[in-house]
Amino acid sequence: MFPVSDTTERSADGGPATEAPPGGISCAAAVQHVYEYLDGELDDRLEERIGAHLGACAPCRSLFDFERAFLDVVREKGLTAPESPELRERILALLREEEEGGA
Ligand SMILES: [Zn+2]
Repeated sequence: MFPVSDTTERSADGGPATEAPPGGISCAAAVQHVYEYLDGELDDRLEERIGAHLGACAPCRSLFDFERAFLDVVREKGLTAPESPELRERILALLREEEEGGA
C-alpha cells in the first residue's frame, strides 16, 4: 500500500483551461491541411475532423471558402498549382477585387 498522491495529474479546477477545439483539431492543424482537404486527399478520419471544425469555426470556414475560390480560379486559368508567390498574389488580388466590387 503506497500513499499514491498523484495530485499533479488532476488539474480539475483552476488549472489552465485547455479548451477542446472544434472537431478535436486546432485551427493551425486544420489550415495546414487546407489544400489536401479541398482536393479530397485526406484520409476519412482527418477529413471528418476538419469538416466538423469548419462547421463550428467561422474564421476557418471563411478561409477554406476563400482557398476553394482561389483554387477554382487557378484551375479555370488552366494552372496546376499556385507555386509561384507572385502568381498567387495576383490571383488573390483578383479575388479581392471581385469581393469588394459591390462596395
Ligand atoms: Zn478554426
